[in-house]
Amino acid sequence: STAKLMGQDSKSKTTFEDVAGLKEAKIEVMEIVDFLKNPDHYTKLGAKIPKGVMFVGPPGTGKTLMAKAVAGEAKVPFFSLSGSEFVEMFVGVGASRVRDLFKKAKEKAPSIIFIDEIDAVGRSRNKVNVFQSNDERENTLNQLLAELDGFGENTGVIVLAATNRPDVLDKALLRPGRFDRHIYLELPNKEERKEIFKVHLRPIKKADDIEIELLASLTPGFSGADIANICNEAALIAARKKKDLVEKVDFIEARDRVVGGLERRSRILS
Ligand code: ATP
Repeated sequence: STAKLMGQDSKSKTTFEDVAGLKEAKIEVMEIVDFLKNPDHYTKLGAKIPKGVMFVGPPGTGKTLMAKAVAGEAKVPFFSLSGSEFVEMFVGVGASRVRDLFKKAKEKAPSIIFIDEIDAVGRSRNKVNVFQSNDERENTLNQLLAELDGFGENTGVIVLAATNRPDVLDKALLRPGRFDRHIYLELPNKEERKEIFKVHLRPIKKADDIEIELLASLTPGFSGADIANICNEAALIAARKKKDLVEKVDFIEARDRVVGGLERRSRILS
């Protein structure tokens, strides 16, 4: 439903157990969890808790997953919206949605607001497509900046945002007191791919011939989302063949399909 897309408060059940690899990002993110759980610990020393944190990284590297894990670990409500939803909105709607969302998040503080694809609203003004009317986008961006500046320090709301295009972001978003902390999420290396496979193999009824080492070697350049996709695709393939267990061959076939999908995607993009 739209209400859900537009960021109804939900309790996140995601925890750091669901996030594989990303060791350094996790360490940085743990500090945010601690801000949410023990704000007094910081404020009594006169520290200002950051308001905005930007997750930067290629598609499918776990930015949304990490944001949900922050909320899940801190056991606080999670409000989310996606920057791309604003682009098609009627005048005034984007800005009022932003206002409402911050209002709700403050009422439920401590809480998290997550803005996915912030580049869609937060594109630098001179890098906007000339064919696209950008009034509403700009209104929305201004409202977002006003909210970030308007809410005082230590209100208990932390705004997380995600982008894979940090290069196009309006510098206004990155000023001190706004999204002034950046956490980088990179594509996984082989060891990290093994960890990600382990997470996504958990729910799968698998045969004894599965070799995580092999799967990780066959997937250089794959994101966490691609790996999750392979695991699910393998289970679908095995089910179609009426098997009781998912076998190595099913994973290999699934990997080839996902590779096919990725190649199509890059042909379209190039
Ligand atoms: P996008 O930029 O495309 O929005 P994203 O970085 O927000 O992507 P997610 O939506 O968090 O990526 O990832 C999609 C799915 O991929 C997750 O729900 C999860 O199943 C899987 N995934 C991604 N990264 C990881 C990871 N590090 N560990 C475990 N699963 C992962």
